[in-house]
Amino acid sequence: MKSPQFSMLFTLVLTAFFSFSWATLPHQSFLQCLSLRSNDSSISKLIFTRTNSSYGSVLDSTLWNLRFNSTNTPKPLVIVTPTQISHIQATIHCSRKHGLQTRTRSGGHDYEGLSSIAKVPFIIIDLVHFRSVDVDVENRIAWVQSGASLGELYYRIAEKSTKLAFPAAVFHTIGVGGHISGGGFGLLLRKYGLAADNVLDAQFIDVNGRVLDRKSMGEDLFWAIRGGGGGSFGIVLSWKLSLVPVPANVTVFSVTRVLEQNATEVVHRWQYIARDLPDEVYSTVILRGINSTQDGRKTVLAIFSSLFLGTINELLPLMEQRFPELGLTRQNCTEMSYIQSLMVNNGLPNQPLEILLNWTVQNSAA
Ligand SMILES: Cc1cc2nc3c(=O)[nH]c(=O)nc-3n(C[C@H](O)[C@H](O)[C@H](O)COP(=O)(O)OP(=O)(O)OC[C@H]3O[C@@H](n4cnc5c(N)ncnc54)[C@H](O)[C@@H]3O)c2cc1C
Repeated sequence: MKSPQFSMLFTLVLTAFFSFSWATLPHQSFLQCLSLRSNDSSISKLIFTRTNSSYGSVLDSTLWNLRFNSTNTPKPLVIVTPTQISHIQATIHCSRKHGLQTRTRSGGHDYEGLSSIAKVPFIIIDLVHFRSVDVDVENRIAWVQSGASLGELYYRIAEKSTKLAFPAAVFHTIGVGGHISGGGFGLLLRKYGLAADNVLDAQFIDVNGRVLDRKSMGEDLFWAIRGGGGGSFGIVLSWKLSLVPVPANVTVFSVTRVLEQNATEVVHRWQYIARDLPDEVYSTVILRGINSTQDGRKTVLAIFSSLFLGTINELLPLMEQRFPELGLTRQNCTEMSYIQSLMVNNGLPNQPLEILLNWTVQNSAA
């Protein structure tokens, strides 16, 4: 008969053995492989294990949803923040060799946390250092690395031209890599389609570490990486984007109606006319339950917001003809540059444009 002390000791040894074999062994041999394979001593500064004091802050740095960093969430054994393509190639090689899955992270905004969690031992390849943006105004193209945020892309375009834009989401801390991989819609959707529709070429690393472009990967894979979901096919390092023209001045408006101001009829009408408005009009309605300012009773607020690629003088007669029920007036409208309209839609009116370069996220626990 075993004593309770013996049983406890046995359990402790067993627990230690399993945590050693699950957490320590693959990670140690992976690290040895990485330092040999990369042939670059500086890579050690780009690797974060759970014993590093900055592991937690690196993990959190772009993690949009803090639910994915709770005590119960599986954590990566290692986070690699490569600065060179060869670092990524070595990481892919060594993780395959040692049976570790990889998760690629660009902006960390994945709704399901797919860039930051896994149910098997895994490592994160965080593209935080792959964030250059090169804008060629003359040829209306830009090369952008996946780790850049949409805000950085928009800022760099506006820095060179206020009459060019890239059709993608408004929210400025979203990463280019995950966004374009999943399609990417924004305010220019009706006029120019998705972000993925405006990609001309890409630099891509496959599972064997080969660096491919559109020609060498072939049209099928090139089609799949533009909307087929990030992380499914390999790692996109950078994208060649087609920039689209926007007028020097666009118009934004926001009109509100509560139930007592015929909101129901106006929303009903909007559902019939919105889709037939010219492609230059992006129009949305948000419905929100509120307490009335008049008598405190519950009511519904309908917020009609729009971005129009043109001037107020062009917009007013158009809306009067197509949507008179809204009663749009000049006072509801503001003309501004396209980049300013993005600031307004980001909830950052009157802020310096440089705020778009700030990609550190205000994490959400939603
Ligand atoms: C607040 C908020 C607002 C949003 N608004 C919009 C919107 O208006 N329009 C819209 O279309 N979407 C919107 N989204 C969704 C967003 O576009 C996607 O979640 C997108 O995948 C985020 O990209 P990321 O690089 O930030 O995310 P990440 O979490 O880094 O990556 C997302 C996925 O792509 C993979 N991936 C990342 N980088 C690469 C790469 N370089 N190569 C291959 N795979 C990669 C990851 O492994 C993961 O599976 C919003 C999300 C949030 C949180």
